[in-house]
Amino acid sequence: MSPERFEAVIVGAGFGGIGAAIELKKLGYKNLLIVDRENDLGGTWHVNHYPGLACDIPSSTYSYWFEPNPDWSRLYAPGGEIKRYAQDVAEKYDVRRYMRFNTAVDSVRWDEDARLWEVALAGGETLTSRLLITATGVLSQPRTPDIPGIDQFAGRIIHTTAWDDDYSFEGRRVGIIGTGATAVQLIPELAKQAAELTVYQRTPIHVVPKTDFPIPKVMRRLFARVPRLQRAFRMLTDGMYEISFVASVLRYHQFWWLNWSAAQSSKMLRFTSVRDKELRRKLTPDYDVGCKRPTFSNSYYRTFAKPHVHLQSTGIERIEPDGVVASDGTTTEIDTLVLATGFDLWESNFPAIEIIGRDGRNLGKWWRNCGFQAYQGVSIPYFPNLLNLASPYAVSLNFFDMMEYQMRHMNRLLGEVRRLNATTFEVTEDANERFCSRLSRLQRNTVFHRGDCANSRSYYFSPDGQTYLRATSTRTTVSEQTSFPLTDYAIS
Ligand code: NAP
Repeated sequence: MSPERFEAVIVGAGFGGIGAAIELKKLGYKNLLIVDRENDLGGTWHVNHYPGLACDIPSSTYSYWFEPNPDWSRLYAPGGEIKRYAQDVAEKYDVRRYMRFNTAVDSVRWDEDARLWEVALAGGETLTSRLLITATGVLSQPRTPDIPGIDQFAGRIIHTTAWDDDYSFEGRRVGIIGTGATAVQLIPELAKQAAELTVYQRTPIHVVPKTDFPIPKVMRRLFARVPRLQRAFRMLTDGMYEISFVASVLRYHQFWWLNWSAAQSSKMLRFTSVRDKELRRKLTPDYDVGCKRPTFSNSYYRTFAKPHVHLQSTGIERIEPDGVVASDGTTTEIDTLVLATGFDLWESNFPAIEIIGRDGRNLGKWWRNCGFQAYQGVSIPYFPNLLNLASPYAVSLNFFDMMEYQMRHMNRLLGEVRRLNATTFEVTEDANERFCSRLSRLQRNTVFHRGDCANSRSYYFSPDGQTYLRATSTRTTVSEQTSFPLTDYAIS
């Protein structure tokens, strides 16, 4: 039996996959398939549902520009609302019917003779497709720490991406490993239930005050009735977000004092939240604000002042069946271990599946041998008819900015492919080289290279010292997607 054949296969039914499907539909694609290893759409917002989960970008900005949501209940919407927004958008644009869930992709291979992608599914089935879009997200491969003894732990281990909503933390002795953006949201919630909570911190994090508030119903009704008003509000939050990204990340060499001011506000928050000087010292980072993802919370530091919450910052030596032994020899008995240990990015997400292109080029091996690179963050030489949305240089700080510029890229490129009645496109090596050299140069003035990030252990840095963030303003990025030279692609 010949494999099922599609015009386009999209891997991932999160906001990336949904956006890609909407754009393809607009371009006239009809025979589409979206596969996802999970049992529903929403990507990260489906997988993550730990207590305290919320957006860390104002929701007016953290949404598709073409689909504003007047109903956000807060400035920073909780995770459940964002998942519902994904469902609503997928239904409104009628892309859910293309989705096939519980379907993991093992590997994909370009068939040069047939000029098709062969998509091998985990169950053994193979599909073929003219176009392949991988929308597998950036933070989608959970990291489980390789700590001696962790396999022997007799209690319950829960990674934040596999939260058990029915598990009660009431009265439990809980250990949590990690103090990243996820832990900052989760720790105050766990402290409300656990009898004892020990936080294992390897690298302290800068936490700055969060200006969050409920959006009154009357305002939401007004947004629904007067969409221009909501647009204006969005422009305000977009503008503020963009200014802080450009100044404190991209132009750190000029605006370093903004990062310094943020560090001072974090210091002030620690001072007002934690009276114990030694505890404050342990919670104080020794790298610049901006090296890691900015983190906002009014309750994180305050939680450490509670008598049943303990900070362990000397490192973990091993885990025993009933507890954790820290490097200073302290043993803490616990019955539940929470892993807020984040995601493997460089190790297993670039790329998230095995991708074999023209002449047998293996994307993962090639990136590791020749440097992490992708033209405009989506296309790679030797990989025809592939748009890999979670590539190096793809990400602006706001995921939706990234998605919308990628949709524009698709529109321009695939529109031309259709106009020429062509079957394949592939970015030229020259265009890729020019783009990546420019992006690499632009990184020089960013906080990542001008700031002090040595002790930050930031996942933004690749093993070869590049950062995956795209060092251009959103405005520049968007305008490049609508005007990149079509000759940067070989279209045939
Ligand atoms: P993360 O920032 O990578 O943090 C992981 C934490 O686990 C770090 O503190 C890390 O310590 C620690 N860790 C990892 N392995 C360890 C080990 N073997 N021993 C001890 N500690 C270990 O991951 P995350 O907190 O899940 O956040 C990831 C990203 O998700 C964020 O940057 C953000 O972009 C996104 N996020 C977004 C939202 C939102 O509201 N939109 C919410 C949560 C997260 P080191 O720092 O020392 O490595």
